[in-house]
Amino acid sequence: MKTKRGINIKLKKRSVLRKVNRNREVADVGAVDNQAQPAQESADSERLGAFVLPGDPIGTTEEFRAGAQTYENAGSICATAAGTVKINNKDRTISVIPSTSTPPVLKRGDVVIGQVTGLRESLVLVAIAGVRGVIDREIPDVGPAVIHVSNIKNAYVKDISREFGLFDIVKARITDLKNMRLDTSEPEMGVMKAFCSRCRTAMTKNGSKLVCPECKQVETRKISTDYGTGII
Ligand SMILES: [Zn+2]
Repeated sequence: MKTKRGINIKLKKRSVLRKVNRNREVADVGAVDNQAQPAQESADSERLGAFVLPGDPIGTTEEFRAGAQTYENAGSICATAAGTVKINNKDRTISVIPSTSTPPVLKRGDVVIGQVTGLRESLVLVAIAGVRGVIDREIPDVGPAVIHVSNIKNAYVKDISREFGLFDIVKARITDLKNMRLDTSEPEMGVMKAFCSRCRTAMTKNGSKLVCPECKQVETRKISTDYGTGII
């Protein structure tokens, strides 16, 4: 892989890396060069390079002048923002175009796991804790997701407290990302782990109901077919 003028860009593995879009292609200068058409490359052309994180060295002061979103440190030019490296060949300035959009980690149709944090008359509030297929990535804090009473199951819900309990662990599908609406009407979706409303003990599935092994309280939920398995 050819790198121009020895630009050496390394993405360091660090916790902050999890906060940027892992789906984003980590472009490198060599890959961009392959796409460039040398005949059209003029002296004042701008070139885009790698995706970098704050603190990443992106060049040296011998090669470049420090441009926007960069700082100099002991002969190195480093990024002050997460974004894409831009090189201006005319004035030899290297800068970073900040990445401003929130990484689209969650998407419509994703299956999520979360905990019930509140029950309203027609809403269940859920704090999302994980996403199917996503293991090594932090879930962005999207605020509470909502299961509307009409999206709990394919049947009339008379009393929402018979379908979900506070602190229950639930599996649900995202149906509306903008408003963080979830749906549990599929058989696989619903409560994965329920806690007794009287003594907070994890309840055991017994037929279509849940039984508290401590105080023998019997409760109902919109139970997932994966209840008690932990399968997301
Ligand atoms: Zn109990």
